[in-house]
Amino acid sequence: MKTLPLALIALLAAPAAAAPAPAPGDVAWTLVEGLTTEVGQRLAGTEAEARGRAWAAKALKALGFANVRIEPFDMRVWERGTETAEILSPFPQRLLLTALGNSAATPADGLEGEIAGFDGLAALEAAPDAAVRGKIVFVWHRMGRTQDGSSYGPFGDVRRKGPSLAARKGAAAIVIRSIGTGDARMPHTGVQTWEKGVRPIPAAALATQDSDQLERILARGKPVRMRLVLTPRDGGIRQSGNVIAEVPGRDPKAGIVLIGGHLDSWDLGTGAVDDGAGVAITAAAAKAIMDKGRPLRTIRVVWFGAEEVGGFGGDSYRDRHKAEKHVLAAESDFGAGRVWRFDTRVGDGEAPLVKAVAAALTPLGIARGNNEGHAGTDVEPIIYANRVPAIGLRQDGTHYFDLHHTPDDTLDKIDRADLAQNVAAWATMLSLVANSPEELAPRAAETPTR
Ligand code: ZN
Ligand code: ZN
Repeated sequence: MKTLPLALIALLAAPAAAAPAPAPGDVAWTLVEGLTTEVGQRLAGTEAEARGRAWAAKALKALGFANVRIEPFDMRVWERGTETAEILSPFPQRLLLTALGNSAATPADGLEGEIAGFDGLAALEAAPDAAVRGKIVFVWHRMGRTQDGSSYGPFGDVRRKGPSLAARKGAAAIVIRSIGTGDARMPHTGVQTWEKGVRPIPAAALATQDSDQLERILARGKPVRMRLVLTPRDGGIRQSGNVIAEVPGRDPKAGIVLIGGHLDSWDLGTGAVDDGAGVAITAAAAKAIMDKGRPLRTIRVVWFGAEEVGGFGGDSYRDRHKAEKHVLAAESDFGAGRVWRFDTRVGDGEAPLVKAVAAALTPLGIARGNNEGHAGTDVEPIIYANRVPAIGLRQDGTHYFDLHHTPDDTLDKIDRADLAQNVAAWATMLSLVANSPEELAPRAAETPTR
């Protein structure tokens, strides 16, 4: 589909003399509003993600970026099918769930089995195979809200590692308590990758309320039987890609400041907070720098493809661009909440440029964090390959996991003032790093986390 992002055109095609330049927050809003409205969900490798790339390239060109291009790569596509669950006995009732990425399918008329329940991964790990074999494994947990999102790491392992562990023990299928917070009765999807040598089984996440319900039913002490219908399919090898746009620097030898987010989303919502907000924030910040004249260093904005399903866009970027000099890598991929902390991952966390950025961010309500920052899934491959200095502008994630990977990830959840604060923070950081003659030093060594 070749329709133009209409709101953007209205914004940009107005005569320059008549229309004042839009505030940076307006550019970000227009981008995320346009992307989520005119494209919608953007599951990696599908036709929808391809439409997203075409939309993005057009929008970034319309904003005046140079060297706008799409760098394609191939990937295996997994597509959702029907997904239902019901308890057959002792208390028949329907439960809400959604398949996890790379889940195997049940037969079309479903799979029936007895539930084997476990409070956490360690309990499943400790169970003898005989307690699990042929059963539907159910793993619950108690993830709670945190401002910095730190609960996602340990609790997320239930989703990331639970399915392979259950399959290795001979389970027929696995259902987990959704990796999420909040009061809405919605299951949270997300990727999991089968360990080598493991036979894939059906794997799904229950809404937290349905998980709690199943836990109570199990506690009654009677055998619990469930029927599960999950019919995802292997969509074969198809194309994804990264969309790249640049603000060329005055000195080509001064290196590249790499920023961005991911264009793809899960297929349940419209990917407004994950990660429409991030691609919009970083592009709007780069445009704000561009509008002030040519920076010393090139700012490269990348809207990565296929992050959700395995970080394939970041791997492809590293493979294509590792020979280029990168002076900084930073990503916005934690929703649309306000930036509250400034983390770094550099050789010297007390360097003058770091201190200058910290001081400039203070009036925006942003505190100096630590030098052990996490830069983002998409930029980590190039960071680890080339020891690229990284900055993390940490967003308030208190409510991020209420929406994360659910049908509720939609535009209405974005607060325009918070979005504008993000753009201001990114533009402040960029104007210093892209224009300072001082370069951030890399760390002595980097250890890949994946
Ligand atoms: Zn994301
Ligand atoms: Zn995500």
